[in-house]
Amino acid sequence: MKNLMIFFVFASLFLAPGTPVLHNTSYSAGAFPSWNDSILIYNFSETHLRAVYGEYKESSITNRVVPHSQLLAILEKISVYPRITKTLLGYSYEGREVYGLQWGRGPKRVMMWTQMHGDEPTATQAAIDLLHFLNSDKTHKAIIDKLADSLSLYIIPCLNPDGAAVFSRKNVQSIDVNRDALALETPEARILMDWFHEIMPHWGFNLHDQSAYYSPVDSHEEVYFSFLVPPINKEDSLTVERKEAMNLVSFMLDRMEGDALDGHLAKYPIRYEPRAFGEYMTQNGCRTILVETGFKSGDTEKQWLRYQHWLMLLHMLEGIAKDNFSASFNDRYEKLPLCEIKHHDLVIEHLRIPGRKGMVAKDLGFRKFWKACAPEGKLRGVSYLGSLGGSYQLKGRSYFNGKDFSFSFGKTYPKQLLDIDELFALDLRKAVQNGYIAFNITRPPDTCGIMDNFPFIINSVPAKSIRAHHGLSGILQGQRVSNTHILHNGYLHAVDSLDGAYLRKHLK
Ligand SMILES: [Zn+2]
Repeated sequence: MKNLMIFFVFASLFLAPGTPVLHNTSYSAGAFPSWNDSILIYNFSETHLRAVYGEYKESSITNRVVPHSQLLAILEKISVYPRITKTLLGYSYEGREVYGLQWGRGPKRVMMWTQMHGDEPTATQAAIDLLHFLNSDKTHKAIIDKLADSLSLYIIPCLNPDGAAVFSRKNVQSIDVNRDALALETPEARILMDWFHEIMPHWGFNLHDQSAYYSPVDSHEEVYFSFLVPPINKEDSLTVERKEAMNLVSFMLDRMEGDALDGHLAKYPIRYEPRAFGEYMTQNGCRTILVETGFKSGDTEKQWLRYQHWLMLLHMLEGIAKDNFSASFNDRYEKLPLCEIKHHDLVIEHLRIPGRKGMVAKDLGFRKFWKACAPEGKLRGVSYLGSLGGSYQLKGRSYFNGKDFSFSFGKTYPKQLLDIDELFALDLRKAVQNGYIAFNITRPPDTCGIMDNFPFIINSVPAKSIRAHHGLSGILQGQRVSNTHILHNGYLHAVDSLDGAYLRKHLK
């Protein structure tokens, strides 16, 4: 902390006369020396940024999960950069280190924190890429120097490392850190609160991932990103700071080039939640912006979204540095549609399923949640039935017309099998024709070794009956052809395709 205090004294030398130094987040455009906006060299060109991203992208991160040991190694590497100060802010409940990184020497204090929900890692990766980029002494040096003169950036990459270790939203005390801003029962919330009060940032970036199943209220598109300037009270009163935060989002959206995000941006639903940090910080004069990374089909590991997030962070820093947030550019933020959860991975329409009074036709929509499985760094999708209804016209990433099919729960194969090879050696099509989709295996592969779309239920502890699985597991039967598909863990498998080779493809 001593370094930080020295930094503040140093930073205060650069402030405009009469500008408060600490514990005051109020300022307006023009309070600080600003850039000459007409000098084009100080604009980020997205064409250039795209061309150089590969140089600054943390190459050791290739998927969604960043184990704590890997994060520590990356932060160690970043901490030797000349403009970076790394501070140990504290420890998580289970004793994992939580670090804060400080960059820049400017008067505008910007704080960002990522992964207060352990299973929301995209912004952690974007923030790491940002720190690499801000260290650049090659490309964009002029603009980066300007940023460093204007801003002091404070980043907590991964506030909830215990939750991250098990890919869980909550911390290890089963407390949602973002509902702990008032009670401060978690060490993670206390770390964030302490640093907030030490810095009293003018700007706060509250960086999350949202469910993969959001759509804008006015369409069925996927939401790639949503934004919220948290409310200050139940009445959603507009303050100068909130208006400036909204303007900054509008500025950033304007600066994002191309049309890749068109139709895929939204406003996160506004619900006043006084226990959340966004609300707390907004009430304390901090211009707070919640960014939620959503989901894009084909980008399961969110690496494209990570890149877009990196661009957004750069543009927002650029906007703050240039005081561009307070000019009335446009109302892009205000015009964003709200989003709501509508999407599914798989929709089966008009499938006849057992009801209380016989078979009934329903539309089934499957979603999944992600669980960490050992070894650390691997995830497993677990399907659940998200929607069940009639004529819902559910939106899915894939569809199956179940009009001519009925569903039945399958049975457990009567013979105990030794290992997965014994399963592969069976006549599996015949087994399914006889209704068997669950197998008791003495030495099964661990669940991490079986892909989410493996067609059969594998029991390591013998189970006689198939209990209704979260996501419904069973067999689809055609009107004329019997047992045509297996439905398991939110995936459909054509029985005709089942053989040893097909199954091997579904092992990791
Ligand atoms: Zn979150």
